[in-house]
Amino acid sequence: MTAPRIEINLKKIRHNTRHLVQRLSRRSVRVTGVTKAVCGHPEIAQAMLDGGVSELADARIENIERIRQSGIKCPMSLIRTPMQSQAGRVIKGCDTSFNTELDVIQMLSKSAQHMNTRHNVVLMVEMGDLREGIQPDDLKGFVRDVLITPNITLKGIGANFACLNSIVPDHKTMIELSNFINNLEAECDVSLEMVSGGNSANLPWAFNCKYVGRINNLRLGESILLGVDPITGARIDGLFTDAFTIVAEVIETKVKPERNCWRTGGPKPSAIHVVIDNSKAMQSILAIGYQDTDIEGLSLPINISFIGATSDHMVLDTGAVSLAIGAEVKLRPNYSALMRAMNAPNIKKVVHNRRRPPKDNAALQLTPNLTLI
Ligand SMILES: *Cc1c(COP(=O)(O)O)cnc(C)c1O
Repeated sequence: MTAPRIEINLKKIRHNTRHLVQRLSRRSVRVTGVTKAVCGHPEIAQAMLDGGVSELADARIENIERIRQSGIKCPMSLIRTPMQSQAGRVIKGCDTSFNTELDVIQMLSKSAQHMNTRHNVVLMVEMGDLREGIQPDDLKGFVRDVLITPNITLKGIGANFACLNSIVPDHKTMIELSNFINNLEAECDVSLEMVSGGNSANLPWAFNCKYVGRINNLRLGESILLGVDPITGARIDGLFTDAFTIVAEVIETKVKPERNCWRTGGPKPSAIHVVIDNSKAMQSILAIGYQDTDIEGLSLPINISFIGATSDHMVLDTGAVSLAIGAEVKLRPNYSALMRAMNAPNIKKVVHNRRRPPKDNAALQLTPNLTLI
């Protein structure tokens, strides 16, 4: 089989999605499935929908267009504030965009008027992460401006946590957000359909808090795809952490002279393997490198340790084991490794556990005499 490749288990993604959707629905929180780490891969997007997300979102319009072109018609949001230069594409591809700049909203409004349609905006409020967001004090004025902008509907307010700074969304912060929403609605005389409280980092809060307050939506990517809490890296109960596997091929295996330099900061091996007499250690090279993925973000099989990597080579210490040339090694990606591998043209995407055969194949099977011209 082609290597390097990333194997994608759709069944595990459907399971993870369903588990999170059901658990959060008990708290009246709906889930938006975030596809940016998989570059809007249409089959993964569909797996999230099959698992019950109410809508999809991505940070890039290109990924949203890719999903649309595959025929998926669900509501879609752009969760990075749009580029003014892409306003037309945003109106065409998305029902909703997340915004922090009035200039951008004005441009979206112009495009929406031009296309004779309406567009929803969610305004991001700054709650301490210091990435995107309108300062809470400025939000009232901002909302009033948006309410009189033609062809634009104010759908809700959103917040984001733990992306740029590791501010964990705790109970106190989330109650602050709820109170803030209540005041805003009263003072601006609006009713907000969506209060999107954050991302996968909000799950510990959402599962454990006494009441979720006004928050009725979370935008989840990493937890669905990798089954982990992005802050601690710990597995979330009931979720699969192995929906994705990167497979690379051995292209050299030799005993090398004792190394006189060790690299630090390698990927986290599932078991740290200290080689005391490394002069006798076997060394193998995998045909994968920094051009393909974030090598530091890969977990290795037990008893294999990382020596170093360059753009096209990953060098491993395999101890007493000698890996055959052409053998394959399985590597587990973290978020950063996953995102880059999904974006790398030389890594083949191999999808397993489809729910039904792709339409084209089904059609071919039913009509064996059909000639394609
Ligand atoms: C990436 C992103 C998310 C999803 O974050 P995960 O940690 O993958 O769940 C949600 N909201 C915004 C604004 C994002 O950029």
